[in-house]
Amino acid sequence: MKAWEDKIRRVTPYVPGEQPKKPVIKLNTNECPYPPSPAVKEVLESMDTTYLRLYPDTEATALAKALALTYGINEDQIFIGVGSDDVLAMAFMTFFQGKKPILFPDITYSFYDVWAELFRIPYEKIPLDAEFHLVRENYYKENGGVIFPNPNAPTGIAENLDFIRDILVHNQDVIVIVDEAYIDFAEKPSAIELLKEFENLLVVQTFSKSRAMAGMRIGYAFGSKELIHAMKDIKYSFNSYTMNMAAQAAGTAAVLDQKYFESTVEKVVETRKRTADCLKKLGFVFPESEANFIFASHKTVPAKQLYEELKKRDIYVRYFNKPRIDNYLRITIGTDEQMEHLITALEEILDEANR
Ligand code: PMP
Repeated sequence: MKAWEDKIRRVTPYVPGEQPKKPVIKLNTNECPYPPSPAVKEVLESMDTTYLRLYPDTEATALAKALALTYGINEDQIFIGVGSDDVLAMAFMTFFQGKKPILFPDITYSFYDVWAELFRIPYEKIPLDAEFHLVRENYYKENGGVIFPNPNAPTGIAENLDFIRDILVHNQDVIVIVDEAYIDFAEKPSAIELLKEFENLLVVQTFSKSRAMAGMRIGYAFGSKELIHAMKDIKYSFNSYTMNMAAQAAGTAAVLDQKYFESTVEKVVETRKRTADCLKKLGFVFPESEANFIFASHKTVPAKQLYEELKKRDIYVRYFNKPRIDNYLRITIGTDEQMEHLITALEEILDEANR
């Protein structure tokens, strides 16, 4: 080994879902199957190149104003980042820096332990119960912070506001982050309502799913003025010009088209219901999803086999070879047509497997 090799910071990186180079039915990374608002395309097509020549607005002012208007939040309570991954990474860096372990579920977004390792934050994974629900009492103990997605990923299960309030009541000395990447598809309300009650709450959302802009990389957080100010100080100590003007302008146009956003969400939710019925008939079991995916296990055929067979047919779903969930597929809700292809393929595969 060369002497400098031990100077290198070694990490085990997050593994994103595959982005195939050929056309496939892509149900593996929870993207939206519909395009973003037509207003987004218009804004991008008419964009002045001045915005490329100059450095961007570090505060993403127009986008922050549009979010403030839409969600009834003060602008100084909004942090904007390049995807919610960027927002979450900044939040980890800003708020999780004590000696006590931060708490998050054992089955959850697999980036949390990667950031914890990267920033050297001690952490403890709290097991979900047998039905994949968070167990509130397990978050009452002393800790260095709490984070969980609601709805949780990859289970799709959402907890109600009373549950989240209870976690906050029991964790008033640390920062509690609720990652709401999928909340727009849920029946249960956003924790935004709780911001009035708790200054230590940070709610993180994204344009990647319900606003169909995963490629643009836009995420944001709502929190008290103090939390947001602290996050901005960290961000400006790291890289101030993160979000380009095209993303800012496109994001602003998307937020302002509330009607289009609502219709997209409604379509996905309808298709989720239809898909759930079909999957049940095929012998799949799954918790009720409040996200844009279904986390399903088949009663007889192993998930890994289904994943591989679907892949051979150019249908990509997500499979996690991890304890407790290695017999599940996370299936993103696509268009009705895509889901019909999926169901037909599953019928075929199950037929063959059961022969
Ligand atoms: N949180 C959760 C729970 C997610 O599943 C994802 C998507 N991988 C993200 C955050 C990050 O999404 P993005 O960076 O595209 O906003």
